[in-house]
Amino acid sequence: MHTTDEFVLQLVKHPAAPMQPQSDAVASAVSTQTGMPPASPGHRPPPLRVMSLHALSYCERLFYLEEVEEIRVADAAVFEGRQAHEDLDEGALTSFTLESEELGLRGRVDAVRKRDGTLIPIEVKKGHAAPGAGPLAAWESDRVQVGAYALLLEATQGATIEEGRVRYLADHKTVRVPIDASLRQSVQDHITRANTLRAQVVRPPVTNNERLCPRCSLAPVCLPEEERTAQDEEHTALRLFPAHQERIVLHVLEHGAQVSRQGDSLLIKMRDSDPQVHPVRQVGAVVVHGYAQISTQALRMCSEHGIGVQWVAPNGQVTGAVLPAASSPQRHIRQFRALDQSDIRLRLARLLVTAKVQAQLQFLLRSTRGSQRSAEIEGVIARIRESLRHVDEVSGVEDLLGREGAAASAYFEGLARLLRDDLDVRLRFDKRSRRPTTDRFNGLLNWGYGMLYRECVATLVAVGLHPGLGFYHQPRSSASPLALDLMELFRVPLVDMAVVGALNRGTFDADADFEERGHHVWLSQSGKAKAIELFERRKQETWKHSVVGYSLSYGRMIELEARLLEKEYCGEGQLFARFRLR
Ligand code: SF4
Repeated sequence: MHTTDEFVLQLVKHPAAPMQPQSDAVASAVSTQTGMPPASPGHRPPPLRVMSLHALSYCERLFYLEEVEEIRVADAAVFEGRQAHEDLDEGALTSFTLESEELGLRGRVDAVRKRDGTLIPIEVKKGHAAPGAGPLAAWESDRVQVGAYALLLEATQGATIEEGRVRYLADHKTVRVPIDASLRQSVQDHITRANTLRAQVVRPPVTNNERLCPRCSLAPVCLPEEERTAQDEEHTALRLFPAHQERIVLHVLEHGAQVSRQGDSLLIKMRDSDPQVHPVRQVGAVVVHGYAQISTQALRMCSEHGIGVQWVAPNGQVTGAVLPAASSPQRHIRQFRALDQSDIRLRLARLLVTAKVQAQLQFLLRSTRGSQRSAEIEGVIARIRESLRHVDEVSGVEDLLGREGAAASAYFEGLARLLRDDLDVRLRFDKRSRRPTTDRFNGLLNWGYGMLYRECVATLVAVGLHPGLGFYHQPRSSASPLALDLMELFRVPLVDMAVVGALNRGTFDADADFEERGHHVWLSQSGKAKAIELFERRKQETWKHSVVGYSLSYGRMIELEARLLEKEYCGEGQLFARFRLR
């Protein structure tokens, strides 16, 4: 459908993008200017997306996160924007893909129309136009975008473009944008700046214009408000980070269970109960326990939807995983560089140990406050405080391990006193023991720590950090040191507190929920099911973060701390491991 003198133009099809020359050797040196490996001779970077110039005009950091680190979040606003374009595509407008090697640019213009023999690129926006003194104006980022399409049309069609238009659906208005010399220069400047940023490993700082961030889809990754809080303790952080995890973790526990694909859902067939169907959009992760099976089709669908799949052995240890990784060499380079510096490693390790020991102390204090047990654990509390006092004095990680070990030994002594006096003696414990587990209490702790470790590995990979490179734990087993580091923050609130509370409430049965083999104790199927439910429920409980000042679920808090750690590697924030239990 066209209107009077307008019609949709059929563009000359642009030839396929030329092949990029292959680098003839893997670059081993690192450029001192950009921090990135030098480009090989004759290398041309892939063309920029026009949309990336729009992002650059909005905020340099947004451009970097989206185009360089390749983090894209399809939130509701983005989805609505796409829907608006799709709706238009069915109607009067037709979109075209344009690419110019000379400009180093490619993009998909919403429509091109011809009026009085002149081509006019048209961009459609879901929102409102910019307020102006007179008539409505186009936002600067929209002007740059439509200007870039004009330059692409000129380069590919040999035409001269004098005007572009931006249609704002919320206002039912179309704003005319003259393609004048200053806009042409602005587009060129954006292309130059974008290519400079693409070549560097340093993430640009958070924008000074705070009003941009609440509308930015990458705010939960960028954490601008947390950065402002770090710079100014008086700053009250706006919540831009989600409070809850929207998608569920599917634990497939039953022997012989089979996970397969059924349309857009995961179907779980079990021997002894009804099948379950879970729409894939509601699933965040799949954990396959023991000898359950998952089909290739289901794995493929999980991978297409960014759903991690992890396999867990009967003893609770993670044995393998297919995880959606945030591929980012920039993040890995920053992590490697930061952790190559012993002072940074020691600073982070001190923060971590302080947070963990403070949590242990706080749990014991609040559980015994006002009761006669507080006198019973006075000695334990004094020993923990003594260890804590020396954390800032240690000269290296080995010393820190010693202090933390002393605090842990006192803490577990105190933890044993938090159990109800009339609790089945088989559910009590004397001292901490790792695998193989010799008592029920430690069996529950070990299972919980296994679940926490699994969660931390998946979170670190999703955040784009290498879980194998830690700053406190050393690589002494197949376990990933950074995941072991991160989980230290959450052992007390997510596992210890949950297990002690559940035992005191009588959740676990010493006979039905455990199996004894020789001197070893294992959780039975019913025990595992209860422990998984306990852990997943605990993850959903909310807690007010004592530094950023807003409440969020423990599940989200693991992600927040992983992102705050990632910011430490950028030289930003200094908020990692600062939250405290009250
Ligand atoms: S949240 Fe703010 S600082 Fe971060 S990328 Fe978006 S606009 Fe830029």
